Amino acid sequence: MNKIAQIFETLEYGPAPEAADQAIAWLDQHERRFGHFINGEWTEPGTTFTTDNPVTGEKLADLTEGTPADIDLAVNAARAAFGPWSALSGYERGKYLYAIARAIQKHSRLFSVLETLDNGKPIRESRDIDIPLVARHFYHHAGWAQHLQREFPDHVPYGICGQIIPWNFPLLMLAWKIAPALAAGNTVILKPAEFTSLTALLFAEICQRIGLPKGVVNIVTGQGETGQAIVAHPGVDKIAFTGSTEVGKAIRIATAGTGKGLSLELGGKSPYIVFEDADIDSAIEGIVDAIWFNQGQVCCAGSRLLVQESIEERFITKLKKRMATLRVGDPLDKSVDIGAMVASVQVERIRDLMARGAAEGAVVYEPDNMTLPGAGCFLKPALITNVSPANTLVAEEIFGPVLVAMSFRTPEEAVALANNTKYGLAATIWSENINLALDIAPKIKAGVVWVNGTNNFDAAVGFGGYKESGFGREGGREGMSAYLKPKWEKDLQPSSSSHGEPVEPRERAADPLDTPLDQTAKMYIGGKQARPDSGYSRPVLSPTGETIGEVGEGNRKDIRNAVEAARAALGWSTTSAHSRAQILYFLAENLDYRRDEFARRIKAQTGEDGTEEVALSVERLFAFAGWADKYDGAVHNPPLRAIAAAMVEPLGVLGIVAPPSRPLLGSIALLAPALAMGNTVVLVPSAQSPLSITDLYQVIETSDVPSGVVNIVTGDSATLAKTLAEHDGVDGLWFAGDAQTSAMVEKASAGNLKQTWTSRGLHYDLTDRRFEGDYFLAKATQVKNVWIPYGA
Ligand code: NDP
Repeated sequence: MNKIAQIFETLEYGPAPEAADQAIAWLDQHERRFGHFINGEWTEPGTTFTTDNPVTGEKLADLTEGTPADIDLAVNAARAAFGPWSALSGYERGKYLYAIARAIQKHSRLFSVLETLDNGKPIRESRDIDIPLVARHFYHHAGWAQHLQREFPDHVPYGICGQIIPWNFPLLMLAWKIAPALAAGNTVILKPAEFTSLTALLFAEICQRIGLPKGVVNIVTGQGETGQAIVAHPGVDKIAFTGSTEVGKAIRIATAGTGKGLSLELGGKSPYIVFEDADIDSAIEGIVDAIWFNQGQVCCAGSRLLVQESIEERFITKLKKRMATLRVGDPLDKSVDIGAMVASVQVERIRDLMARGAAEGAVVYEPDNMTLPGAGCFLKPALITNVSPANTLVAEEIFGPVLVAMSFRTPEEAVALANNTKYGLAATIWSENINLALDIAPKIKAGVVWVNGTNNFDAAVGFGGYKESGFGREGGREGMSAYLKPKWEKDLQPSSSSHGEPVEPRERAADPLDTPLDQTAKMYIGGKQARPDSGYSRPVLSPTGETIGEVGEGNRKDIRNAVEAARAALGWSTTSAHSRAQILYFLAENLDYRRDEFARRIKAQTGEDGTEEVALSVERLFAFAGWADKYDGAVHNPPLRAIAAAMVEPLGVLGIVAPPSRPLLGSIALLAPALAMGNTVVLVPSAQSPLSITDLYQVIETSDVPSGVVNIVTGDSATLAKTLAEHDGVDGLWFAGDAQTSAMVEKASAGNLKQTWTSRGLHYDLTDRRFEGDYFLAKATQVKNVWIPYGA
């Protein structure tokens, strides 16, 4: 043992091991073999696989491979439990969540040691971050359960939620999924990751002990196929997934057309931006938390360092010095910073990626004074320099202790580099200049932005991604709404629109109304009338089959032009909400001036008196003009020295394929909320009755709507919907029409994981005033949480 004087000399740490005996005893008590936890009971172990300690490689336990039959059992249990559980008062459900939180706190040491044994993360992190946050989630959601009726009136739970989680924060991801689902009144089937199921099984025991009704929580262990079986099961009403973008896309495709709810929390490649006026020492400590927290196995890890050129050299030198002091080793040692990677396959994967990056010219730095334990899944912290944006290590999510550094000159360049990724999960900004930091935050396309801090999480603050980092939020109000849906949705009937049926063409009408024979209504792209690329047009028929006009037959090229125009007009998103409201009011006013003409046009296309539809369209524009400056964010008070500003942002470019019926209102009801929230739109009007919308561009032109904010492409709805769904420049897509095309839209949207809303062949009565509210506003927006230091 060192003498005190010697310790002062070297300042070296002595060993500080956490005892594992309690956790080992728990495993032994179960004879290190586990079945599933279904309907409040343990099943007999079936075909098993092992879960190992990544430090020693020793087997910790045998776990059961979940089969489709097991999933059937779990779905039946969850279904039987759903009725009584969702019928409990929010207060009663809240008490169960509270009891879970208390029990987790009481057993926090056992949970943290077990987590560290199974996952390899430092005990410091499982003890001080993961498990306390788990308890916080259950406490927070106990409150939501109780206040549900007041805060989400006329909403109901989905039913059975299938929840699939990864191995990087095993119990924390479980809590993020189970707490809101239960608070909302759902029952769940959760599959932990194959490498890290143990704390989920201990959690199952907690559910048993606190007397949670049987079947409310079911835990089925297994590998990818078990996850697939949950996703595919027709009895599951919603899927919540956290994991890789690749599997997220596969799940998007698998659930397309099923009507299952879906939220995806996927990968990231988050920028960590350091400006020259940053407090450099703090920013360096921040990096340690950003990329070496949990060995870098963090979806929102600050894995791309962007440092201003003027301080680059000094910063990198300091960083290397700090890296050399990090302690890699036994994660059960309380003074270890970096523990073990979860499994050897991850170590291999990371080494392969680093070798690829090096072959492409990257320079790899690893502290040379550092010795790794002789065995186990350990990696040194690494810093990568000399990379271009195209280098594999810059583009790919590494999911390991590897930081990639690049420099920038100006704030604009920092933003461009930060956003140059298919991901959009999180970002960190370091600057002592509040003006600069809060100028950059809205420009970053990411669901979470930390200012002068990093990797902060809280149950009251939503977490989730933009772009290919997924959709849906976990935590806070947005996280709760991901487990609820409007009550009326279950009563929707299949659409039987009389205007949806094709009619046989007949001779041209005697009164051609406003469209002379030789005139084809143009499309409207980038503020200009546009002829269709194909040169073809399609007839518009009256209900009795007479041709009453023609419109362009839009194709892929027209959609591409329209998307390009809509992207160029994205400045609309930063126009003040007040201005957007004024423009929508102006649109309404100008439409109202021409109400008779629009009413006649509706009659010509549908045979029905259009007066009411025009009046409703004007009213709808008014309604969303009213919302433009009211549907906004909130400020959260997490238990940290910070506030989180939840900012409501538009999706970006939204494709809207309007329903066949209601030629004017069908488009306006969808267009108005999209515009109010700052999206630019490519609108495909009703294929049968497009003239009300081709007439509309004259109103748009006289209402100060900037060029490119609304683009109109006429043609076949399904064909144009497919092109929109496949287009990577489209951020969201709404399709109102038949079930088959809806399924196609959802499937094809997986390419860039655009957010979709489809009517799935159901009749959404858009005349109903329920659509004047937040239903479409929520779908037109995503919430960005900006964490800002605040208070003492
Ligand atoms: P996956 O996305 O493969 O796994 C996440 C969860 O989904 C696990 O429970 C997994 O089961 C399950 N799963 C796998 N395939 C399917 C499927 N087809 N249908 C339904 N469920 C499925 O992540 P990995 O664990 O394989 O890690 C691979 C990479 O993903 C990492 O290196 C990292 O880059 C990234 N990742 C990102 C995470 C994030 O939070 N964003 C978290 C974890 C990983 P099982 O574990 O048994 O395979």
